[in-house]
Amino acid sequence: MPFVIRCLDCGHAAPYFPTSTNCPRCNSQWREAEYDYETLSKTLLLQLSNRPFDLWRYRELLPVRNPNASLSLGEGGTPLIQAVNLGMMLGTPNLFIKDERQGPTGSFKDRQAAVTIAALKEAGITEMVAASTGNVAISYSAYASRAGIKLWAFVTSLVPAVKMREIALYGSQVVKVTGSYDQAKQVAAEFARQRNLYQDMGARTITSIEAMKTIAFEIAEQLTALQGPAKPANGKPIVWRAPDWYVQAVSGGMGPLGVYKGFRELQQMGLVNRIPSIAVIQADGCAPMIQSFKQGLETAVPVTSPKTHIETLATGDPGRSYSLLRKEVLETHGTFESVSDEEAFRAMHVLAKMEGLSAEPAAATAFAGLFKLIRAGVIKPSDTIVVNCTGHTMPAEEFILGSNWTRDVEFPAQKAETPQEGLLSALNQVAPERFHRVAIVDDTAEARRLIRRILQSQGDFTIYEATNGKEGLQLIERELPDLIILDLMMPEMDGFAVLDALRANADTANIPVIVATAKELTPDEKNRLGTQIQTLMQKGDFLNDEFLEEVKALIK
Ligand SMILES: *Cc1c(COP(=O)(O)O)cnc(C)c1O
Ligand SMILES: [Zn+2]
Repeated sequence: MPFVIRCLDCGHAAPYFPTSTNCPRCNSQWREAEYDYETLSKTLLLQLSNRPFDLWRYRELLPVRNPNASLSLGEGGTPLIQAVNLGMMLGTPNLFIKDERQGPTGSFKDRQAAVTIAALKEAGITEMVAASTGNVAISYSAYASRAGIKLWAFVTSLVPAVKMREIALYGSQVVKVTGSYDQAKQVAAEFARQRNLYQDMGARTITSIEAMKTIAFEIAEQLTALQGPAKPANGKPIVWRAPDWYVQAVSGGMGPLGVYKGFRELQQMGLVNRIPSIAVIQADGCAPMIQSFKQGLETAVPVTSPKTHIETLATGDPGRSYSLLRKEVLETHGTFESVSDEEAFRAMHVLAKMEGLSAEPAAATAFAGLFKLIRAGVIKPSDTIVVNCTGHTMPAEEFILGSNWTRDVEFPAQKAETPQEGLLSALNQVAPERFHRVAIVDDTAEARRLIRRILQSQGDFTIYEATNGKEGLQLIERELPDLIILDLMMPEMDGFAVLDALRANADTANIPVIVATAKELTPDEKNRLGTQIQTLMQKGDFLNDEFLEEVKALIK
């Protein structure tokens, strides 16, 4: 399948060689691959029909002529996971996570490395240079080992030691640069120039953008399987579906630039009818894109000394990537937002505890941004949202979990007891007796499950559940819990009536109550509740932390 490399500045089209990084006419380094979309729109679907779900499925749209199967580590084809619990907490039922943690080395950089190394191998290149905040070098290092390519990896001294060890383990040379990531890039560039070696050019690398766009292709196919194709536009059927939002934590911007190009190509081939709004999230301590955008600047003002613990996101000077991304964000009605390190770490806990996904802080940054954008009303409850969960937490930094995350069970030595009894009594040492007792009265099973999950994720609660007001009242009178979480709209007996009955009984009159309701309350109803309850929480907008703080405050 023919493709050309089109210069973004002068429009000149040239054939592709991985080693030629500049436009032969105007010398620009900003170029992109262009395919025969007209022909592909007629042939692609047929070609896809019996291929496995991985990155090479879209090989006609990749700049590698003969993909070498022996280099593959199973890149691409990551699952699109519906975030049911998180969606319920946020009030956004159509929330999906593109789980890029499931790449061969645990981050979405595996796409970039797989395609780039395949192209370099095809071109006969045997040695290369890359600057990295960790993950790119890990991915390149793994693929380079398979391809017999020597990698010089330039990393900053802030990259966690476990990540450096991982790079070295695959046989690459790690060069530690004391300085910022931007400085490490300069040192790497100078090294590559002196030795005349191929150098990774970040977002200017054709293969990187092309690799990242496969995320868009996969999302469109997976969303179609889950939600069906988009509605036909002026009589023309649409084959696939694009989400309303694509949310990603951004350092250099390669991911969203690639994903945008992917959706644009799908649109050109008539497979989707829109490009999703792009939400670019950065860490407050290194947010040149967000700051520049909010000041209305078309080019980015670099951050010279990044102040974030999230080293993966520490690109201080995004260069022209920002300007390109800004255009795409404006065109798609997307947005730029930043979050604090603390917000990112908190989001990391929420993601793990609510959805079973352990993500590295950089990936969690996207979720913290999501929470912020939903709260601000930028992302709407009915929107279909895809968040890129870009990387796995391993290797985990110590400070993320903090102390107190295990409970010790001592296996007792006494001979008198049978081992099983011994183990049981040992388990009773972590028993629920002394845990605070919470009654959940709610007629929706999903809401009960969510509240239970939020409480359980933090440990020490014994939880009782009732499915309607009447049953709830009996339960409360019998168990006399420390706290009641009460729904208002329920069959048999509604929450207002339950409250009246509780207050009329001396045994239950002083048990604190949190009302959690999906209902918009009238001023009258609010007044009525005002004197009777401790806290009112609207379902959908209560987040893990706030809710738990309320619970803890009331129980103490
Ligand atoms: C590289 C990386 C990012 C940032 O990606 P860009 O699209 O290049 O800005 C985010 N998260 C993780 C885990 C990464 O490895
Ligand atoms: Zn040019």
